[in-house]
Amino acid sequence: MREGIFDKLKKELPDIKKDILLSEYTTFKIGGPAEYFLITTKEKEIIRAIKIAKRLKIPIFVMGGGSNLLVSDKLIKGLVVKNNIKEPMVLMKNNIIKAPGGIVFGKLVDFSIEKSLQGLEWAGGLPGTFGGAVRGNAGAFGGEVKDSVLNVRALDNNLNVRKLSNAQCKFSYRSSVFKKQNWVVLSASIKLKKGEKKKIQEISKSHINYRRERHPLEYPNAGSIFKNVDFKEIPLKFQKIFLDKVKKDPFPIVPSAWFVIGAGLVGKKIGKAQISEKHSNYIINLGGASSRDVLKLIDLVKQRVRKKYGIALEQEVQFVGF
Ligand SMILES: Cc1cc2nc3c(=O)[nH]c(=O)nc-3n(C[C@H](O)[C@H](O)[C@H](O)COP(=O)(O)OP(=O)(O)OC[C@H]3O[C@@H](n4cnc5c(N)ncnc54)[C@H](O)[C@@H]3O)c2cc1C
Repeated sequence: MREGIFDKLKKELPDIKKDILLSEYTTFKIGGPAEYFLITTKEKEIIRAIKIAKRLKIPIFVMGGGSNLLVSDKLIKGLVVKNNIKEPMVLMKNNIIKAPGGIVFGKLVDFSIEKSLQGLEWAGGLPGTFGGAVRGNAGAFGGEVKDSVLNVRALDNNLNVRKLSNAQCKFSYRSSVFKKQNWVVLSASIKLKKGEKKKIQEISKSHINYRRERHPLEYPNAGSIFKNVDFKEIPLKFQKIFLDKVKKDPFPIVPSAWFVIGAGLVGKKIGKAQISEKHSNYIINLGGASSRDVLKLIDLVKQRVRKKYGIALEQEVQFVGF
């Protein structure tokens, strides 16, 4: 049966492969084999692959840079498509850039700087693809994707290509309509402002350096494990402990790292996974960590933080195949 499906897929998508280890494609270096795996480099290929998988009734998972994923070590059933679309970025009139969803976000940041356009410098050092960032409304250093998006072209679940305005994207903290509806971001246009190249470059570089100094980038990881906590959600009796930790990014929040520290879990190891001592909202893979090691650590943090502070931490990383 499996062979039959693979043969059918192979006939229509000659580059498709089977049993490809996803740990090769995630920044965590964790993840079991994808039953079927395809890297797409053109928009029409990704649309075709999704259409074919739907026709054959096999599950589909679209990934970008794999920088926000915890993938199970077990077989990931169905088709995993890695969006690697490298169609060119285009500078249009009025400081608008149109870019494909599969482009590495860092390349888009570099392109905007090259054109002396400001508005993306907050994203210096942010890994992953532009499409992944639009879907999750990625943000850092006071900026978010939603601040620059003009419109997005996306593939909906009925395989229609839709063009959505910024308002229609329903961006919110680390979320969007694409995340809620599971639509694929094909491309998007962003509107930036003319600026001073050197200044923009310096700000972007300072963020890259900040990340190098403060984040455990020397180990495989998936960025922040937990979303930061809305200050309003903190029970009144604990609010004053965290008053001096509040950041307005993008609204008054307390970084989750403080709750991990408060729960006494910094440096805690399970198997080969560890809560980073450099940044306690990161879990690092010390080499050969299993998805279960990470999952157990995540559960432990959630339990302890709930018990101590009555706060339900929500993970920012996306779970795949559990
Ligand atoms: C060291 C490090 C630092 C990080 N710092 C930050 C940070 O400061 N701020 C922040 O917000 N994030 C941060 N992240 C998380 C991550 O980089 C972002 O979430 C990034 O935008 C994810 O993009 P990706 O292409 O890697 O997505 P993936 O990890 O491949 O996928 C994540 C989710 O997006 C979906 N997806 C991917 N591409 C598309 C698409 N084209 N259309 C629709 N859905 C898609 C996938 O199905 C999956 O559900 C960090 C990660 C790391 C490893």
